[in-house]
Amino acid sequence: VDLYRPRRANSRGLEFGHRAALAALVKGVDATAVPVADARPVAGGKALQGTARPVVSPVDGKTVVGTVHEAAPDTADAAVEAAAKGFAAWSRVVPEERARILERIADAYEDKQDDLMALLAAEGGRTLVDGLAEVREAIDFCRYYGAETRRVFVEKVMPGPTGEENRYRHRGRGVFVCISPWNFPLAIFTGQIVAALAAGNAVVAKPAEQTPLVGAFAVRLMHEAGIPGEALQIVPGDGAVGARLVGHRRVAGVAFTGSTETGGKINRALAAKDGPIVPLIAETGGINSMIVDATALPEQVADDVVMSAFRSAGQRCSALRLLLVQEDVADKVIDMICGAARELTLGDPADPATDIGPVIDAEARDRLAAHVARMETEQTVRFSGATPDGPLAGGTWFAPHVVELESAADLTEEIFGPVLHVVRWKARDLDAVIDRIGATGYGLTLGVHSRIDAVHRKVADRLPVGNVYVNRNIIGAVVGTQPFGGSGLSGTGPKAGGPDYLARFAQEQVVSINT
Ligand code: NAP
Repeated sequence: VDLYRPRRANSRGLEFGHRAALAALVKGVDATAVPVADARPVAGGKALQGTARPVVSPVDGKTVVGTVHEAAPDTADAAVEAAAKGFAAWSRVVPEERARILERIADAYEDKQDDLMALLAAEGGRTLVDGLAEVREAIDFCRYYGAETRRVFVEKVMPGPTGEENRYRHRGRGVFVCISPWNFPLAIFTGQIVAALAAGNAVVAKPAEQTPLVGAFAVRLMHEAGIPGEALQIVPGDGAVGARLVGHRRVAGVAFTGSTETGGKINRALAAKDGPIVPLIAETGGINSMIVDATALPEQVADDVVMSAFRSAGQRCSALRLLLVQEDVADKVIDMICGAARELTLGDPADPATDIGPVIDAEARDRLAAHVARMETEQTVRFSGATPDGPLAGGTWFAPHVVELESAADLTEEIFGPVLHVVRWKARDLDAVIDRIGATGYGLTLGVHSRIDAVHRKVADRLPVGNVYVNRNIIGAVVGTQPFGGSGLSGTGPKAGGPDYLARFAQEQVVSINT
């Protein structure tokens, strides 16, 4: 199999302009009838006790979507012990069978697409467009890592002298802890787990506190598709439960996606542990920028900026935070962006007319509101959108904002929501603009809008950013086509959905035989 073309295809999307297809989707996705009412700790194939808490929808702030039973610290320990027991049998399952099970998970997700989208809308506030894209991404991870399992886990015979045979192979490490964020509660949650399982590890997964039901349903589908109960455990709970899992002496690897701050805490906790050195795969935050020069097409810039900054209410790690526009075109570009932002509809995520759903919770909304309040006194707020009233007024809404900064240096942290910051630059200052982006220390996504090839090349060469997008939006990396992940404060790599990912979850072994 060609390294870059494993034999498989990505899932099929839906043309939202096709009225009959959209009507069928809207009918199927019933956010008032979600497929799971309970999220419990499950270890060794058994449901365990936890402390019950209602999961309230961010859409209206009152609908109870289900109940989460959050794990106590000793339940987290029990899950690691169960995984350690499960590892022995799972690590002996041949790669071909592991690949087939991953493909069956993809089929199950495809089959339950509408249920998954309903849950994503009710619990995570994900719109139909976002929900469908997320289910597809999860399916693509399963099929891609399935195909990759067949390639990576084949034993290789290395070249060597006659009279000796050297066999090189990859095998599971042991118990992998997978900790995921709420902003892609299905795709990232699934991608981490299936990669760790594909590599022959047993897994303990902790979904984010805000989205335990999506995690519970996904794990149920994975077990039904053939992942043994002992190979995959789920432990809903807060950050303290995550810390307990990471600190357990039997853990052999950690896959984490979330904020840079939490990634640093996990890194330090692993370093402080006695015993073997434990690898960490961390995918973290970003202050993602886009450079626009005077040769760019303003209409295309406006379209791409609005999508990159505001889609998913700006709650994507790849989302655009800082737009750097050459002075000559700045007024026109900023006016167009504000005009396009005004046209966006905030509302019920299950309604196809909605562009933007709520932000995840009151804490996120309040943090964004405090940031904008500070911007109102220190900088120039160029656009503030409106939030829904009526029955949805109690939801956690935060409308798109466009803020003009005096200097790019004024944005010092990742603002995780629909707030776009804009700065102007002078024609001769491109080098300083590039240096300023580099000085953030983040390296996740970057956009360039310019019709001068030398500008794209210079920007990409000078900045160690994981994913660079030229003359297009900067979100929605495609599995197997645009492997995704950053560097520096944005993470360790390897890139998810890319050819180097699975091997990082595995341990290599060489067996040298004197023949
Ligand atoms: P977060 O607060 O860092 O939480 C991520 C996960 O870590 C959650 O499950 C959280 O549990 C858990 N956690 C918190 N403290 C922990 C600790 N001390 N030890 C172990 N686990 C701990 O991030 P978030 O707010 O959910 O997600 C948004 C962030 O994720 C943004 O910064 C975004 O850029 C980043 N992100 C990055 C990527 C990427 O691919 N690079 C993708 C998506 C998101 P609780 O939920 O209970 O706190």
